Amino acid sequence: MSGQTDMILVDKKGMRIDGRKTDEHRPVHIEAGVLSNADGSAYLEIGKNKVLAAVYGPRECHPRHLQDPTKAIIQCKYNMEAFSVSDRKRPGPDRRSIEISKIIAEALERVVLTELYPRASIDVYIEILQANAGTRCAGLTAASVALADAGIPMRDIIPAVAAGKADGHVLLDLNKEEDNYGQADVPLAIVPSTDEIVLLQMDGNMTRKEFDKALDMAFGACHEIYEIQKTALKERYAVSKEDDGDE
Ligand code: UDP
Repeated sequence: MSGQTDMILVDKKGMRIDGRKTDEHRPVHIEAGVLSNADGSAYLEIGKNKVLAAVYGPRECHPRHLQDPTKAIIQCKYNMEAFSVSDRKRPGPDRRSIEISKIIAEALERVVLTELYPRASIDVYIEILQANAGTRCAGLTAASVALADAGIPMRDIIPAVAAGKADGHVLLDLNKEEDNYGQADVPLAIVPSTDEIVLLQMDGNMTRKEFDKALDMAFGACHEIYEIQKTALKERYAVSKEDDGDE
């Protein structure tokens, strides 16, 4: 988010460098149940982002001092692989990944029926295999599909996408160049059945009017991504039914 103003990211016809219109998100592909040893899993691509999410649990929470006698806790680990970005990323947790793990866990706590599993832990692992901006949203979107795939009771699943501003235009779902040289980035995650916001952040600056427009775009895209999440889960179920029939 450099805010550099001499960078042409949107041409005179309103076309972006990757050929999208200002209000278009990148193509989204989601597959549920991609790992056989995890309790639930999902693979997601949005544009050049490639993300794997896996869920383990509910299990008895260790260390015990982390247990909550009234509900399960969600422990999330967002990890960006060393090879996921063009400059090798130093492996292991850093301030950014700790922050992203925390906000994703907090968003998921709003939909998972944690009260059904006192003293338990639900572990959510998010591996960013390839990053091109918007990975926290991609990770959260994949994690909610993985939780549903694990059969964990939830009020709803969470879709997430960012909107922002680059080259003076309000844009949906910023890519790496737009994120790096843009003026603002606003990740949003919602509970589609109620339109409740479970994640909203803002990096950079926008006017109130621009912010409202960005939020509007992101809300619309979240509802579109929600349909893709549901389709992925339905496809997974269809495959399972066939497998059951074979046995
Ligand atoms: N990025 C990077 N190295 C890092 C962290 C981030 O190259 O150590 C890139 C990566 O493509 C990421 C983008 O910068 O997707 C934007 O990062 P940000 O912190 O805004 O989070 P994100 O948009 O991925 O949720």
